[in-house]
Amino acid sequence: MYEGERVSVGVDNGVATLCFDAGAGAVNKFDAQTLAELEAAIDVLRAAEGLSGIVVSSALDDFFVGADINEFGAKFRLASAELRAWIVDANAVFNALEDIDVPTVAAVRGVALGGGLELALACDYRVAADNAQLGFPETGLGILPGFGGSVRAPRLMGADNAIEWIADGRSRGAATAHDAGMVDAVVANESLAEAAKDMLARALDGDFDWRARRAKKTGALRLNAVDGALSFEAAKGQVFGKTQGNYPAPIKAIEAMAAGAELARDEALEIEHDGFVALAQSPVADALVQLFINDQFIKRKVKAGSGQAAAVDRLAVIGAGIMGGGIGYQAASKQLPTLIKDVDESALDSAVSEAARLFAKAVERGKIGQADVPAGLARLRPTLSYSEFAGVDLAIEAVTEHPKVKTNVLAEVEAELTDGTVLASNTSSISIDALAESLENPEKFIGMHFFNPVHRMPLVEVIRGHATSDATVATVTTLARRLGKTPIVVSDCPGFLVNRVLFPYFFGFMALIDDGADFVSVDRVMEEFGWPMGPAYLSDVVGLDTSQHVESILAAGYPDRMQRERQTSMDALVGAERLGQKSGGGYYDYTTDKKGRPQKTPSAAAYELIADSRESEARTFDAAEIIDRLMIPMVIEAARVLEAGVADSPHEIDTALLMGLGFPAFRGGGALKYADQRGLGDICAAADRYSHLGPLYEPTAQMRELAARGDGFFAAATR
Ligand code: NAD
Repeated sequence: MYEGERVSVGVDNGVATLCFDAGAGAVNKFDAQTLAELEAAIDVLRAAEGLSGIVVSSALDDFFVGADINEFGAKFRLASAELRAWIVDANAVFNALEDIDVPTVAAVRGVALGGGLELALACDYRVAADNAQLGFPETGLGILPGFGGSVRAPRLMGADNAIEWIADGRSRGAATAHDAGMVDAVVANESLAEAAKDMLARALDGDFDWRARRAKKTGALRLNAVDGALSFEAAKGQVFGKTQGNYPAPIKAIEAMAAGAELARDEALEIEHDGFVALAQSPVADALVQLFINDQFIKRKVKAGSGQAAAVDRLAVIGAGIMGGGIGYQAASKQLPTLIKDVDESALDSAVSEAARLFAKAVERGKIGQADVPAGLARLRPTLSYSEFAGVDLAIEAVTEHPKVKTNVLAEVEAELTDGTVLASNTSSISIDALAESLENPEKFIGMHFFNPVHRMPLVEVIRGHATSDATVATVTTLARRLGKTPIVVSDCPGFLVNRVLFPYFFGFMALIDDGADFVSVDRVMEEFGWPMGPAYLSDVVGLDTSQHVESILAAGYPDRMQRERQTSMDALVGAERLGQKSGGGYYDYTTDKKGRPQKTPSAAAYELIADSRESEARTFDAAEIIDRLMIPMVIEAARVLEAGVADSPHEIDTALLMGLGFPAFRGGGALKYADQRGLGDICAAADRYSHLGPLYEPTAQMRELAARGDGFFAAATR
């Protein structure tokens, strides 16, 4: 009846099948073309005679992944009236499907998310294959379901369920969706088409009252007025508690559901449209959509290189300390047989018992079954010798951070590996080129900087030396993905990417303390800004001696701006052996409460040491100054990293800062997007206000050029 490129309609015995097929290797998603074809197909169906019902299905493994974020993200920048007109038109298509004069059933297999789930919701019934994953990820992108999801979901599954699904943005399996009333039946994937037709036949036979079902979805939401208002208010309170008001989308979605509850579909949709437009044009949505685009960008890049990657079926980790043990566990938990080698048997024992503890935790969380544990643990094989290294496909060195120790160990390991095997170092601060000097095969050598704790931290900085080959890069980035991590490739430079950009922020912090600021106030301001911890607390967690060591490397690497002339609070604390959390105290004192939970209190001793170490009197600073004095140096250093080509794109730089440091997502999720959102003109003006603080506050010439023409890092990079 209709044959588009992505949508087709066939009829068999009066039953039409509206089928989505974006083609092999692609996924069904709402881009302009798919939406236009759906509209045309529905026009054909509405005009068709003798039709008894419609099944909506996908020819691919997944039903429908949702909207095309790249395309729709661009729409968010339209003028409000235009954006609203577009969403109204799109909804007219969904409404036309919902209002068609025959019963409709969606046959959902695999993924049905966002606009895809909303498409299924426009049908009278939903049959799901047992592999279906359904959900509304929109609030995670800073928007709300805009194709009628906030109207139809509460009417179908009740306000409580709809609030939960829409506000948390998570996807759910078929059985959960069935219990919640989102789907009407769950069947084996092979029987899906048949089950959908069967459901249609029963609706036609009168076993199911499809008109009543439709009336429920298009009428007002029947709530007991008091209970309804309470559940919306309670949900808003809960979401607010979790998001500190920094993420407006889930709140607005709940408000739209509440305000539309008493209304019939078309009026309720008006409220949804208003909420959608307001959110889509907010900076938070702009930031969260950017994170999605960054993520896709990196995945595509790794995939594009994967053709050159060597297969890794056996891994070796050298050094069974905190990091080596963590990498070993991560590999074993991702089905990769891993040898873990140390010179100290007790280190091997600790690594294995730590892995056992993490496997037990995974069981507790329901991620794996108890039965999976022995096989998982068996994949991690401790050893004191190199006897099996010839059979290894990739080796990661994670021994003590000392150039001499590392040089010796790397040479030793290289000699044991079969020629051509990639060798990586988890060094956090030593130059990859320097370590490569004593190796036979520097083209097979690379940095693979995992973060602590390995099982939780999603980032791997991949450091490419001058001699490192493309195939070596491809092998470790592909392995990083397999380990569930996000690899960001950077070139070898002091501090690599993350520490290089973090330390100018720390320098800003230390200068602020020297000028009389209170570290507790600074921590509070930066935590309110959105960082997971303020700079004093973060220094304590990292360890002040470790910070001092990295700082010395950066000072030597970038003496023009990172060499400091005088002692700081950090030196005073280290001098008094206050090394941070690990020594019981740094800026804060660390104790445990009666229940054994860690407690931190600002340390009187630290206050004294700081007062003695600085010339200025204590004084208060307003939040804006604190933020600028820390954030501006970070932004400028991130710009330098981009300009120097240390990383290829703003997408990768920001992702490294998001994943390595926890850069607040709602503030742009990275220093470059943060700067773009503030405007580079504003950033340069703020930098100029603090130029007396030194060259860390001097914007680059390129930044000034971008600022002068009202441009941004991302806009310039993607043009
Ligand atoms: P660690 O001290 O916990 O472990 C080092 C291990 O290496 C010890 O078990 C030691 O016995 C072993 N070792 C020493 N010489 C060896 C040799 N010749 N052969 C085999 N094993 C040997 O250290 P860690 O914190 O796990 O750090 C390891 C590496 O990871 C360092 O390069 C460090 O800079 C880097 N790193 C550490 C962190 C962190 O937060 N701890 C984060 C990122 C990277």
